[in-house]
Amino acid sequence: MLVALFNDQFVDMVGETTREEWYLKNQSGQLRCPVCQNKVIPKCGTKKTWHFAHHSFVECDGFHEGETDYHLLGKKSLYRWITQMEEKTILEYYIRAIKQRPDLFIQENQHAIEFQCATITPEDLRKRVSGYVSQNIASDWIFGMKRIKQKGPDLYIMNSSDLSAAKKDSNGHLYLNHYCPLKEQFLLLRNIIPLSQKKVAAHGHAFSAKKCCDVQWLSRTFSNLETHNVNHKILWKKQKNTWRMTAFKNVSPAVMYIKKVLYFNHHSLTLFPSIAGIPTKNFFHFETSPYLWQTYILFLMEKLPLSLFSSNFIEKEFQRLLHRRIFQTRDFPYLNESWRDAVEHYLSYLVNHHLLEKVSEGTYRKIQHVYYPKTLDEALKLDEIFSEKS
Ligand SMILES: [Zn+2]
Repeated sequence: MLVALFNDQFVDMVGETTREEWYLKNQSGQLRCPVCQNKVIPKCGTKKTWHFAHHSFVECDGFHEGETDYHLLGKKSLYRWITQMEEKTILEYYIRAIKQRPDLFIQENQHAIEFQCATITPEDLRKRVSGYVSQNIASDWIFGMKRIKQKGPDLYIMNSSDLSAAKKDSNGHLYLNHYCPLKEQFLLLRNIIPLSQKKVAAHGHAFSAKKCCDVQWLSRTFSNLETHNVNHKILWKKQKNTWRMTAFKNVSPAVMYIKKVLYFNHHSLTLFPSIAGIPTKNFFHFETSPYLWQTYILFLMEKLPLSLFSSNFIEKEFQRLLHRRIFQTRDFPYLNESWRDAVEHYLSYLVNHHLLEKVSEGTYRKIQHVYYPKTLDEALKLDEIFSEKS
């Protein structure tokens, strides 16, 4: 941690205090943890960013002894960045009511900012976001740049759980922010489209911290360049291709289940309908690839004895598969919708493509048969057509 109490006054490792001064303060025995009030000692070595550590192991809600240097450095660097704009920012502010200590807290706007370098589970993330919400505090997550790797134009590999912290911009696109304390540089990831568990297509905008002169930059949008959209389309088509080419060897529960279902109905998953595997609105609420759950919707429609059906019926069937962990969803504490909206939007997509007709709210009628390609060549050609349409 970077903050301690000295004679009941806050002191921090961000200012100009020298090593000798810290050691003098330490000798007086008056350096304490602001959270648990136990003794802390200043660590002013040459290898790691200067910080405080508890004198002995104690149970403490502010316990950050496992903090890496990268995290300490980032926190310090982001604090300096933010105090240029928002003077009343508090480092490691402890909110006793919820026992949470955001890395940075902008007092005026009641805005907590976390610099996340370690993996946080979606459950823990949701808990912490709810904690802030309960205190009417806005929150944002900035991830360490070490947690993301660029693999090509607009293509990134990231930790799957980090995606949970994504927010939506005014156009409904997902966004996230990363920061590198070594280069003092932000990577603002916009228009994120998850391609698989760890792979995302996104527009990355890199800026030095000096150029981002407003906290609003964390949510800022950029005008969409045509090349970016072309890249997104190419990446999606490539992914769809991969799904077809690897379905035979993929043994995930969802793939095994859909394969079996199709097999007993004389279809092969490699030749799934081209109208499945579409990045329809909110599709990312499923971690299960869209070609699987969308193919399953098409399959259910085909098997219905009547042409009329309700979206409720599909939801129930999905709930069953989610319960059995055959399908997986993603949790987004900052978003209001869920996988149900993904299903609803896919049904609307089928209405737009004249496979369904909407009879009334939640009720649909089949008006066309689902077409399964006969050969891989035909499938790829049809994919091309749907890629242009969607
Ligand atoms: Zn403590």
